[in-house]
Amino acid sequence: MSTIFTQIVEGEIPARIVYEDETTMAFLDANPLAPGHTLVIPKDEYERLNDVPDDVASDLYETIHRLVPAVEDSVDADATTVAFNNGETAGQEVPHVHCHIVPRFEGDGGGPIHAVAGDRPDLADDELDDIAADIESRA
Ligand code: AMP
Repeated sequence: MSTIFTQIVEGEIPARIVYEDETTMAFLDANPLAPGHTLVIPKDEYERLNDVPDDVASDLYETIHRLVPAVEDSVDADATTVAFNNGETAGQEVPHVHCHIVPRFEGDGGGPIHAVAGDRPDLADDELDDIAADIESRA
């Protein structure tokens, strides 16, 4: 069963497509958080960012880089929040990688990306050192 975004890529369901190339596509979010809320996807189905091959990841970033100023200019936004819900626990509902470009406006009542997390952990220096070393060893 293909994802709803694959169905958009295949032209099986309608979408307001704003950009398309060989490997990526961008279209307006059907339930926008702000005017101009746009989703950027790889055309092929990958559930999470870590599943995306290097070359497609580069293409995806290139499209995001192209679309951010296009979206900001088109709705005269002051800024954008650009983010992925990467995995169900992080709020990902559609299991097909997608980048949200959400236009932001002075006084829009929204918050920074820091607002998405729950309680902040109280980490000691040695715990931070261990985490940093562990991430570095896997990067
Ligand atoms: P996420 O929670 O990160 O998986 O976000 C999925 C997003 O896809 C939501 O913002 C939905 O509004 C959006 N969405 C779901 N179905 C469609 C659709 N057919 N066309 C455009 N956007 C959609």
